[in-house]
Order: sequence, then C-alpha cells, then structure tokens
Amino acid sequence: MQKKKNKKGYIIAIDGPAGAGKSTVSRMLAEELKGMLLDTGAMYRSVAYFGLKEGAKTEDDFAHTARSLKFDPSHDRAHLLVNGEDLGLKLRTPKVSSLASSVSRYKTVRDTLTRRQRALGRSWSKKFPVVLEGRDIGTVVFPKADYKFYVTADPKIRAMRRFKQLQKAGAKTKLSDILKQNQERDEQDSNRKHAPLRCAVDAVVVDTSRMGIVQVVKFMAEHIRAHETLTNIQG
Ligand code: C5P
Repeated sequence: MQKKKNKKGYIIAIDGPAGAGKSTVSRMLAEELKGMLLDTGAMYRSVAYFGLKEGAKTEDDFAHTARSLKFDPSHDRAHLLVNGEDLGLKLRTPKVSSLASSVSRYKTVRDTLTRRQRALGRSWSKKFPVVLEGRDIGTVVFPKADYKFYVTADPKIRAMRRFKQLQKAGAKTKLSDILKQNQERDEQDSNRKHAPLRCAVDAVVVDTSRMGIVQVVKFMAEHIRAHETLTNIQG
C-alpha cells in the first residue's frame, strides 16, 4: 500500500460480503475519524432503483441510468444524495437488493460507477479521511488505498443481523429468506466476471462473528491511528 506523508486525508477501503456489518462499521469509523463515507453499494442500488422506475431492461439501459445519476454528500456528510435525494430504505427492498447485484455484473455500469467513486474519493480525501465501502474497493477502485479491511462473518450470523435490522425498520421478512438471498448475492458477487468480490492480498481481515460493532470500529481506528502517527514521525 502506498502512503503519502503528512496529508490531511487518506483512503480507507472496506470490502466484504452482504450483511457482515460493513455499513454500520464504515459509518461509525467515518464518524470516529471525522471523515466521510462513500457507500458504493448505495450507488449500485440507485442504478437498480432508477432503472426499475425507468423500465430499464438491457445492459445499455442500465449503463444509461448509471451515467445519468448525480451523487453528492448530504450537508452533514452522513448520507449519499442521489439526484439530490436521500433514498434511505427505498434502496433496501429485496427487489432492489437483488437487482443491484444483477446490474453490478455489467461492465459498462461498473466502469461508470468506478470512475465516479475514484473521482469522489480523490476529491474528498484532499480534506478528509474517506471510508469507501463495497466489494471491489481494495482490489479495483483503489488498489493503492492507504488502508484496506475485509469485513466478514459467519453466514448465519450475517443473516440474523440483517433480519433484526429489517424487523426494526418495520419490514416483514423471514430469516430463512434472508439467508437464501445473501447466499445468492454472495455467489453472484464472487463469481461475476468483472471486479468480483475478493479479499485483497494486503487487506486486514476482520471476522465480526464474535466481535461487537464498537470493538470492530475501535480496532480499525487504532490500527489507522497507529500507522498515521508512525508515518508522521517518519516524516
Ligand atoms: O453493499 P450493498 O449490499 O449495499 O451492495 C449492493 C450490491 O451492489 C451488492 O450485492 C453488489 O452486487 C453490488 N456492489 C458491487 N460493488 C461495490 C458495491 C456494491 O458490485 N463496490
């Protein structure tokens, strides 16, 4: 990994399978470091969401949708605005989740979103630490990220977490359905031709099965701070 010395911002790549706790960990880590979060999954979900609305069917249709979207941070830097709107739970329905995984196989869609992720990451990291959360951040989007983590957990624990999250949000779902959907998505994400889900060789693997979220965030923040301090001392 390449380290630039004495700069304000830096890039943190967080990858891993569905429901491993990446989103919560990434959000909390960005807050802890007073940085910014780029939820790249939300970008793929937005292509699925708007594609559905626009009746997109083919790769070309979805690529057109991807090119038409505008991504900005909200004022408090806590959310990604898509065409000026925080789409929240609209992006989290099973239909959008499954379609997001399907459209993410398309090279033209990936190329567009990868370009946008690099541009946003580079521009934000001039001022802030930037946490980018996804599947291919440490391998494709920012292979030279300053820090890389691969967050994973036992599939049953991952399904249970997502189930509780959805229940809390008032959605009606079955645990067995979530387990099945996660398996299908992981399989699709890991076996696709372009930028499949992989653990980068130089990523720190964090298995969250038996770790609380606070513990995970503390571990990551300490890892980063220790390296930043060392880099600044070495000047
Ligand atoms: O992370 P999240 O579950 O929101 O991502 C939704 C879908 O978007 C994933 O299942 C995956 O197919 C796709 N994705 C991707 N590359 C990323 C982020 C997400 O292919 N960097």
